[in-house]
Amino acid sequence: RTMVAPLLAVDGVGKSFGGLRAVDDVSFKVSPGEIIGVIGPNGSGKTTLLNTLSGALKPSSGTIRFGGALLNGLRAHQIARLGLARTFQLVRVMPDLTVAENVAAARLFSTSDGAGATASELLDLVGLGTMHETPAGDLTYIDQKRLELARALALQPRLVLLDEWLAGLNPSELETGIALIARLRDRGLTIIMVEHVMDAIRALCSHCIVMSAGSVIARGTPDEVLADPKVVAAYLGG
Ligand code: ADP
Repeated sequence: RTMVAPLLAVDGVGKSFGGLRAVDDVSFKVSPGEIIGVIGPNGSGKTTLLNTLSGALKPSSGTIRFGGALLNGLRAHQIARLGLARTFQLVRVMPDLTVAENVAAARLFSTSDGAGATASELLDLVGLGTMHETPAGDLTYIDQKRLELARALALQPRLVLLDEWLAGLNPSELETGIALIARLRDRGLTIIMVEHVMDAIRALCSHCIVMSAGSVIARGTPDEVLADPKVVAAYLGG
């Protein structure tokens, strides 16, 4: 791997819920422009990890550095303003507002006004260029997902966390969704994706970490980790 300074450095991060260690001593780095996959069976701590990165949850231990900044102790909106945005597993667009209004509302939270893509450019980028005036609640499921992505991009992030953004798409929508994520990477965006769709992980990720029971049990390229017997055993509940 290249030796450029990492954009994100996660070091020994843990998160406990009462006696349950949902995330246990997780460390990894993300270089600028990379797509990192976070995979692992249900309940292995993937969403909890994302929540500690985005500030939705306070880590119980460890440090998270993003660019020059230490994120520990910052609130979610402060972390978003530093350029770390996320999508949610369940779509969270505002159904009564139009597509354009949804993006405009997200842009209010952006650090720099004027700079970066306009709302219209973002909607073109995600494939909603003809739907500015459509109420978000009238969009199909994939179009709501596109809108959620446009809202995350409206923050002008350097790093985007995708929480199962491809879940629930049919095979042709999946192909479109994978192409869209590849386009974001080609524009220089850095991405961490929690994903169950292994074809997408293979197509997009330079590296993966595999979680099981809160810990990282394997790391490497998608092909390397998916061939690892420890990973196979974790998915089989072994
Ligand atoms: P994954 O995203 O890999 O499916 P999660 O991060 O959602 O895993 O969950 C990891 C573990 O932490 C699970 O055992 C889950 O039940 C538990 N957990 C997640 N969120 C909470 C919470 N807010 N309170 C208590 N336990 C939680």
